[in-house]
Amino acid sequence: MSGVAPAEFPPPVEPTEEFVGSITDPEDERIEVGVAIVGGGPAGLACAIRIMQLLEDEPELAESLGEVPVALIEKGKTPGAHTLSGANMRPSAMRELFPDLDPSEWPVYQEVEKDAVYLLTKKAALPLKPMPPNFRNHGNYVTSVAKLSRFLNDKAEEAGVYVLPETAATKLLVEDRVVVGVRSGDKGRDREGKELGNFEPGSDLVAKATVLAEGTAGHLTGAALDYFDLHGHLPQRWELGVKEVWKVQKPLDRVIHTMGWPLRKGAKWNEFGGSFIYPMGEDKICIGMVCGLDYTDATFSVHDALQQLKTHQFVSKLIEGGEREAWGAKTIPSGGYWSMPRKLAVPGMVIAGDSATMVNIPELKGIHYAMHAGMYAAEEIVAALKRDEVDFSAYDERVRNSVIGKDLYKWRNGRQPFSKGFFVGGAIASAMTITQGFFPGGMWKQVPDAEEEMVLGGAGDSYPKPDGKLTFDKLSSVFASGNATRDDAPNHVRIQRHVPREVAQTWVSMCPAQVYEIPEDQQGNGAAEVDLNIVPSNCVQCGAITAKGGRLTPPEGGDGPLYTEV
Ligand SMILES: Cc1cc2nc3c(=O)[nH]c(=O)nc-3n(C[C@H](O)[C@H](O)[C@H](O)COP(=O)(O)OP(=O)(O)OC[C@H]3O[C@@H](n4cnc5c(N)ncnc54)[C@H](O)[C@@H]3O)c2cc1C
Ligand code: SF4
Repeated sequence: MSGVAPAEFPPPVEPTEEFVGSITDPEDERIEVGVAIVGGGPAGLACAIRIMQLLEDEPELAESLGEVPVALIEKGKTPGAHTLSGANMRPSAMRELFPDLDPSEWPVYQEVEKDAVYLLTKKAALPLKPMPPNFRNHGNYVTSVAKLSRFLNDKAEEAGVYVLPETAATKLLVEDRVVVGVRSGDKGRDREGKELGNFEPGSDLVAKATVLAEGTAGHLTGAALDYFDLHGHLPQRWELGVKEVWKVQKPLDRVIHTMGWPLRKGAKWNEFGGSFIYPMGEDKICIGMVCGLDYTDATFSVHDALQQLKTHQFVSKLIEGGEREAWGAKTIPSGGYWSMPRKLAVPGMVIAGDSATMVNIPELKGIHYAMHAGMYAAEEIVAALKRDEVDFSAYDERVRNSVIGKDLYKWRNGRQPFSKGFFVGGAIASAMTITQGFFPGGMWKQVPDAEEEMVLGGAGDSYPKPDGKLTFDKLSSVFASGNATRDDAPNHVRIQRHVPREVAQTWVSMCPAQVYEIPEDQQGNGAAEVDLNIVPSNCVQCGAITAKGGRLTPPEGGDGPLYTEV
C-alpha cells in the first residue's frame, strides 16, 4: 500500500529551544518551592500526598523546604478536569497510600465480581470462553479517574500541598544540566498572542526537585526526553480512547470487553483495539472504544467507530431508553517496556506515570502503576533531599525492580504482533502471554504512528449519521466534555497548514473534537494538497495529534475540557 506518512510534514516546533531554558524572573519575583509536581492525575497527586506523609516524620527537612514544601501544578480547571480513563482500577496503590481507609470510603462505584469478553461480528456477539487472562478483573474496582483525581486532590490539600489549578507548566527550567523547576504559561492573550485586559504573565517556580507527571504525550516530558537524550529503545506509540457515560434504566451486572467489529481485521488497516463497557453503580454505565493510532486509513475515526459500536444490538440493548451524560477522549501511551525513557531520573527531576509509559496495554491498566510510581518518587526524593542531594537515580532502579517494571517486561513485545492482523497477531500475543514474554523473545521492531503511510480508505463511509439520541456528532460531544474555552484563545496546536490530502484527512478524521477542517471549497476539488483550518478552542487535550505528526502544547491554564465523571 503506498500512501503518505504524516511524519513527512513535521510540526513547526523546536522543543529543546522553546520549552527548556534558564530562570528568567528576578529573585524577588520567583516562587520558591520544595518540590514542584507537574500534573494533577493519579501519579502527581499520589506523589504529593506521600511526600507530605513522609515530611510529618522529618520536621527538619520540612523546614528546609520553605513555606511551600510541595506545589502541584495542573492545567485543567481542577485536578480531574483533564483526566479520563476506563476505569477498572487495581486496588494495590490505594491500599498502600491510605492504609487506614476502607474501600467503602474510596471514590469507586463497585468491586468487580463478574466479567465477560465478546468477539463482535456485524450482527452477533460471541462470548470468548475461557476468557483471555488479561481481561480478568475480579477484585478490581470501577472508578472514574476524573473523580479519583478530585478525591486525591482533596487529600493532598488537607495534607498541606499547595495546588495551583488552571496553571500550565510550559517550560522546564534547567541550570548547568540540573532541573531547577518549571515556568508557568502566560494567561490572557488573544488568538494572535496580543495581551488582553486580564493578561497575567507566567512565573518561574524554582524547586529542589521537579516531578513530571503530565500523563500521556507530556509537553515538558517530550522536551526533557530530547534535551537529556532519554528516549526509549523503541519509539513511542499511542492508542486513542473515546468514552461516553450513559444514564441507563437497567443496571449492568458485569464488566464487558469486546473485540472485532466495527474494527476491520485486515492487516493492511492496522485497526487494533476494542471496547470497554463498565457498570457505574445502579443507574450508569460507560462505553468506550480504544484503537491504536498506527492505523492506515485516513478516514478512520475512533469517535465515529464508537458511535457505530452503539448501533450493534448487543450494545444498544444496554443503553435502550437511556441518555448520554458525558463524553471525553484521551490517548494512552502504548509503546510498552521498550519505549519507556531510558532513564526515569536526571539531576533535579523524575518522570512518573503515563509520561513514562507505565501502562499495561493488554490489561488496560495504568492507574495503580501511576500511583505506585508517584509514591516511589516521593520516597526517593525525600531520601535524597535529606542527604542534601538532587540525584534521584534510586527512583529509576526502584521502578524497574517493582511491579511496574516486572509487569511491563512480561508484555515487552505484546503490541507489535497486531500489525500482522487480528488473528495472526492474536495467536502470537497469546503465546507471549502464556510464556510471560519469553516466546518468541527479543525486541520486536516498532514504527512510530506518524510514520505509517496513510491512504484514503473506506472506513468513513460506514459511520452512522448522528441522530442526537444514540449517535452523536463531534461538536455535541465536545459540549458534553464540559469544554467552554473562549473562541479567541491562543492556538496551542502545532501542525503544518498546507499538506497532502491524505495527511489533512487523517487529522480531520482522527481528532475527536473537530479541531481541524479542510475548507469547504477544497473538500471535493481533487487537489493533491489542501489547506487546514484550526479551531483550537474545541481541543479536549487528548494528545492524538502528537502521535500522528503534529505537536500539542499546553493551552492557557483552565482551558480545555471539564471532565467530572469520565
Ligand atoms: C480510554 C482509557 C481507558 C483506560 N482504562 C484504564 C483502566 O480501566 N484501568 C487503569 O488502571 N488504567 C486505565 N487507563 C490508563 C490510566 O487512565 C492512566 O494510566 C492514568 O490515568 C495515568 O495517570 P497519570 O497521573 O500518569 O496521568 P493523567 O491521569 O493523564 O494525569 C496527568 C495530569 O497532568 C496534567 N498536565 C499535563 N501536562 C501538564 C502541564 N504541562 N502543566 C500542567 N498540568 C499538566 C493533565 O491535565 C492531567 O490532569 C485508561 C486510559 C484511557 C485513556
Ligand atoms: S487537537 Fe489534537 S489533542 Fe486536541 S482534541 Fe484534537 S487530536 Fe486531540
